[in-house]
Amino acid sequence: MKRAIYPGSFDPVHFGHIDVIRRASNMFDELIVSVIHNKNKSALFSTEERVTILNRALADIPNVSVESFDGLLVNYCCQKGVSTIVRGLRAITDFEFELQNAQTNAKLSNGVVDTVFLTTNLEYAYLSSSAVKEIAYFGGDVSMCVPDYVAEMIREKYKTNKE
Ligand code: ADP
Repeated sequence: MKRAIYPGSFDPVHFGHIDVIRRASNMFDELIVSVIHNKNKSALFSTEERVTILNRALADIPNVSVESFDGLLVNYCCQKGVSTIVRGLRAITDFEFELQNAQTNAKLSNGVVDTVFLTTNLEYAYLSSSAVKEIAYFGGDVSMCVPDYVAEMIREKYKTNKE
């Protein structure tokens, strides 16, 4: 059985992520989408909220499950018995960072954990979670970036944070 892990911050998930997840779900028997819980990084949504949002966004894809993890990604992969990481590539600027991570993870796992890359769907190449948050923060329309309920949740967050 071919299994893979797609790790990310997903703060919040956007259409670029969802497109990568859909395509990867066709390549693997099981895909685990894993929210990285980083205590040192401030996020708009808590890890639990991100897991809930992802579960809703991916509810129609049967072979995808959502979890969170902290600590080293390779340790998490070994714990799950998964040796393939999926990552998305938008532009050459992503490449350097992703290449270094992939090589580090291969080295740390003695060559057990490999990374496969899916290039972005051109329609979503410009999308990042930080761009989504910035647009929303200044009152812009993010409906072309995220599902409607996510747009609403971001609006609510900023409304509360600004009060
Ligand atoms: P971001 O905050 O930049 O949206 P994440 O840390 O949540 O990113 O990203 C998780 C993975 O999704 C990374 O491999 C990242 O390169 C990929 N990704 C992010 N945005 C896109 C996009 N628009 N198209 C394809 N892959 C993407």
